[in-house]
Amino acid sequence: MDVIDSIEGLRKVRKAITGSVGLVPTMGALHAGHIALVRQAKAENDHVIVTIFVNPTQFAQNEDLSKYPRDIPRDLDMLRQAGVDLVFTPTADQIYPAGFQTWIEVERVAQGLEGVRRPGHFRGVATVVAKLFNLTQPDCAYFGQKDAQQAAVIKQMVRDLNFPLRIRICPTVREADGLAMSSRNVYLSEQQRRSASIIRHSLEAASVVYEKGERDPIAIRVVIEDVLKREPLAQVDYVSIADAVSLQELDTASEQPILVSLVVRMGTTRLLDNMLLPEELNDIDGLTRTLGGG
Ligand code: AMP
Repeated sequence: MDVIDSIEGLRKVRKAITGSVGLVPTMGALHAGHIALVRQAKAENDHVIVTIFVNPTQFAQNEDLSKYPRDIPRDLDMLRQAGVDLVFTPTADQIYPAGFQTWIEVERVAQGLEGVRRPGHFRGVATVVAKLFNLTQPDCAYFGQKDAQQAAVIKQMVRDLNFPLRIRICPTVREADGLAMSSRNVYLSEQQRRSASIIRHSLEAASVVYEKGERDPIAIRVVIEDVLKREPLAQVDYVSIADAVSLQELDTASEQPILVSLVVRMGTTRLLDNMLLPEELNDIDGLTRTLGGG
């Protein structure tokens, strides 16, 4: 496995690669969710490139950039075991050299949900992902449904700017108790960690009422909030019921697929999760198909 930290080195190695390339962009502190993306990329491509870069421009001033978990040696071990061909670990100075001034701003799909709570976040994400696409030239790039809006933003960007690649969005990998795996879960105390399974329970409760025919977004939101209320450590940041294609918030019943997404705060940690309804859409290709295009 090649580990490369310079743009020049990456370009040289990339040029020598023939056959199809699958890309998995990450911020490191890897877990089974990342490895599932790598496996999918391996199954569908001749070569797999993983990038590890904690992108400063997607963090706001008050966010956790400086304490974001980092463990490159462990990450590299995991990627070696998973059979990755090339890992790119650039520094921030290389990605954003002095004088940098070009940004990618995706509009509507980036504006609701996390876009409201984290101004500038998706501008940072879209810009770095566009750079990583240009640098690694993949045939297909793999993202997780866990960050559904991020995946939708990237798909929109690929479509609008004619990037010559496909996007695949893979299902959320969960811990045994249903908590979505996240590098940020290490911030949780033992007690918060135990309580965090309530998030998945609340989404399952939404699925149950949806299956019984409930389509009113307000009623579905109330079901979720009622479950979350049972856990005093869980502070609800937001619960959104949105159209799964446009990600626009719904205020009337819809028979189209919906994306139920939420952020729950445990202490200072924001835990993000979601579920597509009907529930069978949360399969290997569900969100990729639902969003269409790109
Ligand atoms: P991150 O390192 O958190 O920026 O995530 C890198 C990629 O892994 C993104 O496409 C995420 O959506 C994806 N990812 C993170 N957590 C999970 C998970 N639990 N299951 C599946 N994919 C995930």
